[in-house]
Amino acid sequence: MSMWSDKDCTAWQPGRREQLVDQLRQTKTIWDVVIIGGGITGAGILRECVRRGLKALLLEKHDFSYGSSSKSSKMVHGGLRYLASGQLSLTRDSVKERQRLMSEAEGLVDPLRFVMPHYQGQFPPGFLFERVLDVYDLMAGARQHKRYPARDAQYLAPGINPEKLASISQFTDAVTDDSRLVMRVLHEAHMSGAQSLNYCAVKHVLKAHSSYSPKVQGVSQAGGVIAQDMIGNQELEIPARVVINATGAWADELRVAQGEASRMRPLRGSHLVIPGWRFPVGFTVSFFHPHDKRPVFIFPWEGATVIGTTDLDHHQDMRQDASISAGEVSYLLAGVQHQFPGLGLTASDVISTWSGVRPVVSSGALDPSSEKREHSVWDEQGLITVAGGKLTTFRLIALDVLKHAAKYLENENLDLKHSGNSDDKRIFSRVSQGEGLRHLPELQAKRLAGRFGLAACEIAACDDNQLKRISGTPACMAELRWSLDNEMVMHLDDLMLRRSRLGILLPEGGDSVLEQVGQLCRNKLGWSESVWSDEVRRYKAIYRQHFSLPNQKVSSESVMAHDEALEPQI
Ligand SMILES: Cc1cc2nc3c(=O)[nH]c(=O)nc-3n(C[C@H](O)[C@H](O)[C@H](O)COP(=O)(O)OP(=O)(O)OC[C@H]3O[C@@H](n4cnc5c(N)ncnc54)[C@H](O)[C@@H]3O)c2cc1C
Repeated sequence: MSMWSDKDCTAWQPGRREQLVDQLRQTKTIWDVVIIGGGITGAGILRECVRRGLKALLLEKHDFSYGSSSKSSKMVHGGLRYLASGQLSLTRDSVKERQRLMSEAEGLVDPLRFVMPHYQGQFPPGFLFERVLDVYDLMAGARQHKRYPARDAQYLAPGINPEKLASISQFTDAVTDDSRLVMRVLHEAHMSGAQSLNYCAVKHVLKAHSSYSPKVQGVSQAGGVIAQDMIGNQELEIPARVVINATGAWADELRVAQGEASRMRPLRGSHLVIPGWRFPVGFTVSFFHPHDKRPVFIFPWEGATVIGTTDLDHHQDMRQDASISAGEVSYLLAGVQHQFPGLGLTASDVISTWSGVRPVVSSGALDPSSEKREHSVWDEQGLITVAGGKLTTFRLIALDVLKHAAKYLENENLDLKHSGNSDDKRIFSRVSQGEGLRHLPELQAKRLAGRFGLAACEIAACDDNQLKRISGTPACMAELRWSLDNEMVMHLDDLMLRRSRLGILLPEGGDSVLEQVGQLCRNKLGWSESVWSDEVRRYKAIYRQHFSLPNQKVSSESVMAHDEALEPQI
């Protein structure tokens, strides 16, 4: 068995990153598949490759889930929107995947109840929406909706605008922590032999199947990629039979460099985070914004209340994280003010914000919200690009990509219905909630099992102090501790914004826990005082510029200067 195909459960332990980079530099192993982009799409493809015995490597320019896969609205939809537009088979597939994720990863993908008010004279009326929900629930095999009279609003959504309220529909979808979903899929892939690197940017794709393209030196029959390891600052030439571009909203960057026409239309969506005590909601409230009739959601997430989202052409610099604009803050607050007129919510109630860029394939539609959100796959002389889609359908997207990749692999007959696993229908390993988790409260045991899979018991074995909930969030320090040991944390923002969500859920980016987190980082990663100070400076600049309200932002020059230090010039 080669060093690449060993089952590797320690793939992300400290020190393994350097080892992997060295191996990539020194050997000219030809990978079956190199995947560019460490969001949910890339992670899903990696998982499906290795379960079919392919040698696969994933490279991510920033941190795993850095792109839209940590900045979505966290809904694992069955696709009510598709159903409303008559796309029955797409809805059926999405509903099936949603149900599969909920049953395999309870504690990571959980049911979320929605309420939608129906006002007199507003589309859709309650009775019509109920017919749509009938079909939706039929596909899920469970009746999960009900229509309530307006007078029940005081129980379902206290404070909701009562004027002309006719009835309220209640239905069920699902919610997740998108970044943890990516991590869980990556862990599963690692356990089947995959390799992945964060902070490794692909600068150039070498096509094996194009007559004009250069080939990887010394490996004449293979294409591959030229990548930059941004931690050790070295260039890597990595041969591969197939290269898959899963870079989401950035998909055009590598394609256009190959002479292809651009196709993407990056659309920004932003969110406001409010403390749960200030605006408690038991259900997600879905309503139409009074300015443009777009659907907006107010939903409970990780103990906070989130308001989102917007849908705008994104003209900000794609080399930086997206940031909410003052106009988006006003738009979202105006929607809440209209729907909950007595609440008096203002910008001063906002703890944090986040903005993501949707990887939407342009059709030339005038209105951003009219653009389709389904995924597309293109094979451009051997460079396979995938963009668009949803969190829910990542497994189906991965299978579609493999269908395109099959012809370039020695084994063209990839079994795309089944994997090589004995438990072949599952995405996630089965986690027993037995002995190792029994001493924990039920919700915490589920949370650890869902988010950390087979490692849940290891986390649960930490002392009580580490397992105590961090006030204002459902997370505990034992989770962060484990992430530092096992999840390739390179920067403080990886830990505060993606492995955990403390930076978004706590005021001031989690200032109150930084001392404790600092101790953990020094112990686990060996950071010196000066490395820690640099990391805190970097983290706070990122937080202020991209995860807080616009008026708290530092000058964009200082963050640009900071980010440029990390960017290879590609
Ligand atoms: C505001 C918003 C709300 C959304 N809400 C939902 C929702 O509620 N439910 C849902 O299902 N979907 C939702 N989506 C859509 C969903 O988030 C995306 O479809 C999904 O995350 C796309 O994943 P991806 O892996 O394709 O892209 P990304 O997650 O963006 O990953 C692409 C990665 O490629 C990396 N990369 C770029 N260039 C390079 C390079 N040269 N080398 C190496 N790596 C590179 C990037 O750093 C990035 O991490 C939402 C999206 C947004 C923006």
